[in-house]
Amino acid sequence: MKKTKNDLMEKIVSLCKRKGFIFQSSEIYGGIASCYDYGPLGIELKKNIKEMWWKSMVQFRRDVEGLDAAILMAPQVWEASGHVEGFTDPLVDCKECKHRFRADQLEDVTKCPDCGGELTEERQFNLMFKTHMGPLEDQGSLVYMRPETAQGIYVNFLNVQKASRQKVPFGIAQIGKAFRNEITPGNFTFRTREFEQMEMQFFVKPGTDQEWFEFWKEERMKWYDFIGVTKEKLRFHEHGKDELAHYAKTAYDIEYEFPFGTMELEGIHNRTDFDLTRHKEFSGKDMSYFDDETRERYIPYIIETSAGVDRTLLTCLIDAYEEEQLEKDTRVVLHLSPKIAPIKAAVFPLVKRDGMPEMAQKIVEDIRPHYMAFYDQGGAVGRRYRRMDEVGTPYCITVDTQTLEDQTVTIRDRDSMKQDRISIDKIKEYLDERILFVG
Ligand code: ATP
Repeated sequence: MKKTKNDLMEKIVSLCKRKGFIFQSSEIYGGIASCYDYGPLGIELKKNIKEMWWKSMVQFRRDVEGLDAAILMAPQVWEASGHVEGFTDPLVDCKECKHRFRADQLEDVTKCPDCGGELTEERQFNLMFKTHMGPLEDQGSLVYMRPETAQGIYVNFLNVQKASRQKVPFGIAQIGKAFRNEITPGNFTFRTREFEQMEMQFFVKPGTDQEWFEFWKEERMKWYDFIGVTKEKLRFHEHGKDELAHYAKTAYDIEYEFPFGTMELEGIHNRTDFDLTRHKEFSGKDMSYFDDETRERYIPYIIETSAGVDRTLLTCLIDAYEEEQLEKDTRVVLHLSPKIAPIKAAVFPLVKRDGMPEMAQKIVEDIRPHYMAFYDQGGAVGRRYRRMDEVGTPYCITVDTQTLEDQTVTIRDRDSMKQDRISIDKIKEYLDERILFVG
């Protein structure tokens, strides 16, 4: 089995468009830079990734609650968080070719990497998108599109704690859109200006923070393995002192070996009591927690796990893509874990007669309430298998002559290409065993 690496990104981008995973936004108008739309298969994959995250972070834990905060928040939130002042990247322009760069990503800040031209002085560029609320576009109506979902959690810390009757340590999880006016977006959906985050903020007693930090670091790494990302391509990267964000005491990134370099997939940060203390200062509201068992009052420390939905999805596609050299041809397969695959099962009638289409359609209808299923009667069965391999469908069920006699079907495994013959009434059980996520 061989994986072609050089032009892998081009192949992924093309497959995404052709099969309906990801399209360029506003394509008919020539597109808009670094914005993407998810097509029918893309949205299924995205939904499944988010669901796996939600299950492991919220549903299976008694100590994490969910939240869905508004994208637009009081502008003071971003002053308190430090974003108005400090959420900047150093921007330089080439005086010759006019290309823009992030100075911290250049090896030589005096010379343009594209044309060798002279670069301008560094300017700090704030990454937050601004807009106005209401009919007047003055300073008083200025609001920001949130650059991270985390702040929605911090300002709701006590609301959630009281409503859910949780005791510290506990966490709040949220999935939602975030916006950053990135200077250099790129690498397909790796860095975009509008993206989705899956963030969890875990509130702990000061002094227990490093212990919890270690716990979440390991948990988060396990999750990528669990959704099927190759372990060997993942690694931790500890932030050095010069890399640490203004709020962080300790930070680790989970990185993946992308074809364009080993890059961040998720950040795990010990944000100390920075955020709650700042919100207390700026809002004048007491953000402390009272432990009624120990009778202590304190501002909890926060351990944050912050992952990108789009980046995880891109990772899953890259990681799953394989061009397999067979005897006669090449098979393109997405080895997506059955847990996140957009379509779980495809059902084919061997031929378009003898009642086989009706039986196959009936099987699809029986699967649909539980899993995404697809009916296909077009072309030779081999071609139908290939179409499903290319979009990562783990199981293909075929209705053949024997089905008409004994109510059994063949079920073919995408990865091994082996076929089992099972009874129609065992299909659901067969799929459950392989797809269901049980804790
Ligand atoms: P980078 O250094 O790559 O700009 P960051 O350290 O600013 O990222 P965080 O603020 O830690 O990123 O964001 C948490 C996660 O959100 C990232 O690990 C990534 O998965 C996702 N993310 C951040 N920015 C973007 C973006 N522009 N496009 C897509 N996903 C993003």
